[in-house]
Amino acid sequence: MPDSTAALAVICAMAEEKAALKEHMSFIETRDLLGRTVTLGQLDGHDVVVAESGVGKVASAVTAALLAREFGCRGLVVSGVAGGLDPDLHIGDTVIAHSLVQHDYGHQHDATLTPFRPGVPPLGSNRRDYAFDLPRDLAERLARVAVEIALPDLPDDLLPPPAETADRRPAGLGRRVLMGRILSGDQFINSEAVRRRLHTEFAAQAVEMEGAAVAQVGALLGLPVVVVRCLSDLAGSESHLDFPRFVAAVAPGAAMVLRRIIREL
Ligand code: SAH
Repeated sequence: MPDSTAALAVICAMAEEKAALKEHMSFIETRDLLGRTVTLGQLDGHDVVVAESGVGKVASAVTAALLAREFGCRGLVVSGVAGGLDPDLHIGDTVIAHSLVQHDYGHQHDATLTPFRPGVPPLGSNRRDYAFDLPRDLAERLARVAVEIALPDLPDDLLPPPAETADRRPAGLGRRVLMGRILSGDQFINSEAVRRRLHTEFAAQAVEMEGAAVAQVGALLGLPVVVVRCLSDLAGSESHLDFPRFVAAVAPGAAMVLRRIIREL
């Protein structure tokens, strides 16, 4: 049973994502982990240990496991950016995962992949229960907080010309914060066909490269895992252009949502 007064581990894949959180931390102390700086301190009065893991499932999983063991953390959080899969979502919207899936893990037939639960034999229910789901009471509490969160509009200088506004929520509607399913795999998704397939096959809202790997670590260690992702791109044919353009502007959105939900964790 983790100590309920212990710190939460927060894993960010990239420096921009960690910087957005560090700005709001106090009582900062640093340690070294795998050659990178781990930042210990408080986020709005809550003890946290924040690490930049590097991109991908292995980097984030090993970081999560080491943070949990070295600092005796009571839970694991992933905070950062993602590509949107659901055509109803726009850059700057934020998804909190109630369900996490490793979309690149399973049995590859010719063109189709049958997902399996990672880390266990692909037998019986492990062929069906491939998602790591949040406990229902935690998901419900987070959903109640999510609808109350208002994020500031993205800076005007990032607005695309009027002809390209499909990626952006029409002015005045505000940025959404919602519960959803997030997919993780060791691929940056930059294809409209793959975006459509992942959205349809998994009924998922966003795709990134770490969350479901950390969920697998949490399942092994008996720790809750909460993933918060603000959309930097929509995973389609423009994502390679949108990602670098929006990453620094949307990373603070994930940090802002985490600060609002941290008291529920
Ligand atoms: N800047 C890095 C690449 C980052 S990969 C480089 O140039 O090497 C993208 C990162 O943001 C990952 O950590 C992933 O979790 C998230 N992400 C954002 N959009 C994504 C997308 N369309 N597909 C997959 N991951 C995405």
